[in-house]
Amino acid sequence: MSARTILAVGSIAIDWLELPDGRERETLGGSATYFLLAASRFAPVHVVGIVGSDFPEAGMHLFKKHAANLDDLQVTHGKTFRWGGRYHGDWESRTTLFTELGVFETFRPALSPVNRKCDVIFLGNIQPSLQLDVLDQSENHGRVVVCDTMNLWIETTKDDLLKVLQLTDILLLNEQEASLLTGVSDLEEAVSAIQELGPSQVVVKRGSMGSFLVTGSEKTHIGAFPVKTVSDPTGAGDSFAGGFVGDLARGESIVEALMAGSAVASFCVEGFGVEGLIKIEEDELTHRINAIREKSL
Ligand code: AMP
Repeated sequence: MSARTILAVGSIAIDWLELPDGRERETLGGSATYFLLAASRFAPVHVVGIVGSDFPEAGMHLFKKHAANLDDLQVTHGKTFRWGGRYHGDWESRTTLFTELGVFETFRPALSPVNRKCDVIFLGNIQPSLQLDVLDQSENHGRVVVCDTMNLWIETTKDDLLKVLQLTDILLLNEQEASLLTGVSDLEEAVSAIQELGPSQVVVKRGSMGSFLVTGSEKTHIGAFPVKTVSDPTGAGDSFAGGFVGDLARGESIVEALMAGSAVASFCVEGFGVEGLIKIEEDELTHRINAIREKSL
């Protein structure tokens, strides 16, 4: 079976990272960037996004190398989206230092005829109004919609987010986001409430504890691969989504695809910025997926 085509929208960024071991510098980032590098190992990815005239040549090179279609990647005069993050001693908690929308402020996605037909749509972390714009232009009625979000959008643009959720099949989020979105602190109750909002399947991400999938009332636990040394957790969520959606588009079951997502995320956190994702070796990826399978279900 040939892989289904993925349409991915999200941020493409220049990140500033400050890590607990003293490293601090600028690097390529963004939810669509991490997603692309992860998902394109499994299935063709068409990118929808925008960068400014300051976007580095090396970044554009990576996009050209990994994307199957860049028709809807706009390059415009102005500044690329910038995000700064500082991690704390436990690596799990981080503070956003700044978010500068730059060219995203006036971005309006315009899908090419080919991109209106894509089979799987990944709505990466970005303003829900832009996620909606993409969905509105999709003409594939059998599409599968996977959505990722964050506390910022739940707190600032909840109405738009709720419209996106009505059109979403699978939602990815963490425990805090689930309770923030629903106002319910009990996780199982929060997930049931989310299913009422639209997504029939909900994936709750739990960092180094793995994740679990809720379909109807059935719950499946997916383990995480125990990484020896964390170098930089940035992009773990987006690369988890990339491995997951990529493997799903390739034709794997949702549970199998979540294991792939978990394995890909483990490589991401081992390198600074996107470096860990670029270095993935096929044998080691298979080994990690098998190790996760043994610990799951
Ligand atoms: P993650 O560590 O999976 O949450 O992803 C981090 C990436 O998300 C970074 O590369 C950022 O550029 C990007 N990011 C952070 N905040 C936002 C935001 N408000 N909108 C879109 N992308 C963001």
